Amino acid sequence: MSARGHAIAARVEAFVRDVVVPYERDPRCGAHGPATDLVNELRQQARAAGVLTPHILADGGHLHHREVAIVLRAAGLSLLGPVAVNVAAPDEGNMYLLGRVASDDQKRRFLDPLVRGEARSAFFMTEPAADGGAGSDPSMMQTTCARDGNHWVIRGRKAFITGADGARVGIVMAKAEEGASLFLVDLPDPAIRIERVLDTIDSSMPGGHAIIAIDDLRVPADQMLGNPGDGFKLAQVRLAPARLTHCMRWLGACTRANEIATDYACRRHAFGKPLVDHEGVGFMLAENLIDLKQAELMIDWCAGVLDGDHLGTVESSMAKVAVSEALMRIADRCVQVMGGTGVSGDTIVEQVFREVRAFRIYDGPTEVHKWSLAKKIKRDWKAARA
Ligand SMILES: Cc1cc2nc3c(=O)[nH]c(=O)nc-3n(C[C@H](O)[C@H](O)[C@H](O)COP(=O)(O)OP(=O)(O)OC[C@H]3O[C@@H](n4cnc5c(N)ncnc54)[C@H](O)[C@@H]3O)c2cc1C
Repeated sequence: MSARGHAIAARVEAFVRDVVVPYERDPRCGAHGPATDLVNELRQQARAAGVLTPHILADGGHLHHREVAIVLRAAGLSLLGPVAVNVAAPDEGNMYLLGRVASDDQKRRFLDPLVRGEARSAFFMTEPAADGGAGSDPSMMQTTCARDGNHWVIRGRKAFITGADGARVGIVMAKAEEGASLFLVDLPDPAIRIERVLDTIDSSMPGGHAIIAIDDLRVPADQMLGNPGDGFKLAQVRLAPARLTHCMRWLGACTRANEIATDYACRRHAFGKPLVDHEGVGFMLAENLIDLKQAELMIDWCAGVLDGDHLGTVESSMAKVAVSEALMRIADRCVQVMGGTGVSGDTIVEQVFREVRAFRIYDGPTEVHKWSLAKKIKRDWKAARA
């Protein structure tokens, strides 16, 4: 691991612990994520401390994935940390995608404001289950795009679109004759209507998660990413790193939850001794340490694969399942160790539990990753015998 990565991670961790953590009780942290003025205030402080967008270098270069792992884990130590230093989802994944595949003009217009932390973005892929649209199976996509002169016209509905409410940049996936295609759009746009922001179990992401109607949205042809039909191929570029950066941020959150639970277990007494001295509690904390280390190693392994310039589709599926399931166990044990306090809003532990629960679903539910791994196992078995 590079000294550069460690130095940036140390600065981010100090900023998050000293400056961001005190904001956790700010009334502007709402059910649909931190309010815009809170996000702007935190980013102003991150900018002044030199830790805004820390994974993208001044020359436009990007940290190696293994470096990103320790920087984003440091950011995740507070649930407000990723938003504060501008490494939160979906912006971080969207910045990565645009940095890799957008044209110079597209980068100037859509990527630069994101890197400067002046704008938020949203990725529009999933569609409402009630419409029979794309969910676990993206090939069920119903949103269409059709050429009209120098423009494309997009129609459809989208669901669970994180951060759409308040975003300035949108990446919309729609089906052309040639196949799924991606478009960059300015937001807000009257043709992209927020039907409602869902009430969900999690509450850390600005703007929450929205159901969207897209009514004859006209997009100039030069705002398509790549070529018609490139949508799934380009989404692959974002897929593995974005899965892994979720693992990194939530590892930070569970590390902090475990610190809080450990502190509780060492101070709080029951039946004549500190809770930690009761084997049932001590074992839960021991299991947390083991799961935290396994999650860290799994992330580091997969990040190493991505650093080797591989797509890492299989490895990131394995990492996403292993890490999200381990983090769920950790968060649940932290709640349990803390008794009633664990399910109260007095610490961030209950929110970490809620956030990690949702993470087992987005960026591919556990079962879908296992199913695709099982298909690969069968393919490899057949190939070995051909
Ligand atoms: C908090 C949150 C934020 C999100 N943000 C975004 C966003 O910004 N942009 C976006 O486009 N989408 C977003 N999503 C959507 C997310 O990607 C989908 O929820 C996910 O892909 C699952 O799709 P679905 O909800 O339609 O579940 P469904 O497709 O209905 O699947 C339901 C369940 O069926 C099971 N299942 C499905 N297929 C298989 C299989 N092959 N084998 C075994 N079991 C299977 C799984 O257990 C799965 O959880 C978000 C979701 C959440 C919860």
